[in-house]
Amino acid sequence: MGLQIADRWFAFERVSDDITRIWEPHAIRLMQCNIWHVRGRDRDLLIDTGFGVASLQDAARHLFDKPLSAVATHAHLDHVGSLHEFGDRIVHRAEADDIAAASGNFSLQRADHPADFIASIERAGYEVGPTFITALPHADFKLREFTRRAAPATRTVGEGDVIDLGNRVFEVLHLPGHSPGSIGLWEAATGTLFSGDAIYDGPLLDELPGSDIAVYRQTMRRLLRLPAEVVHAGHDPSFDGRRLRALARAYLDRRGG
Ligand SMILES: [Zn+2]
Repeated sequence: MGLQIADRWFAFERVSDDITRIWEPHAIRLMQCNIWHVRGRDRDLLIDTGFGVASLQDAARHLFDKPLSAVATHAHLDHVGSLHEFGDRIVHRAEADDIAAASGNFSLQRADHPADFIASIERAGYEVGPTFITALPHADFKLREFTRRAAPATRTVGEGDVIDLGNRVFEVLHLPGHSPGSIGLWEAATGTLFSGDAIYDGPLLDELPGSDIAVYRQTMRRLLRLPAEVVHAGHDPSFDGRRLRALARAYLDRRGG
């Protein structure tokens, strides 16, 4: 498989004074997670950590000059790969067990996965090529031998818990459906939601192991009522509150209200 070696694995975009988006350009869209760095007065926040095929700690070292809390919006592979590199690890209690131990082997080659798994992803609207990454992070990376390292939570959270950065306060919203322990981080003062995979402006996945469409519908009804002004999501570009409500409504229409 003639994949080239990437010059740099991570890309960075300063979204505002305090918010930086980090992503992995060589992961396919399905697995290209947005990693959000939020600068606070006393402590910074890292929301999701990407695939984990290269060191996020090394690549983003220039951003890390304060105590840092790394939050997993949920425990899917593309969101928690580098979580083990950070000392303060927060996840919803429903998914704490998932990250406590290393994952089984996960091949990054399409051909190693059951056809019905690939078909369900393509049906949802994603293209899946022969490999889940389009370049290699380094020369001796083995596509067929990928595992996520263990990253036991140092704090588990649930609905209503607070993550305080000193000058910015985020409330945990439990937004299950995509996965049982999916959370959003809501900053009421600015109307900002970090939504993880609960909602993003792309094909939503609700037929994965652990997904629940009936529960997802309740999450969408809740998001319809949230006075959000900006949403920074787990995948794809950020959007405003009007788009949030349009996406939630579209889901409810598609999945029977
Ligand atoms: Zn996910």
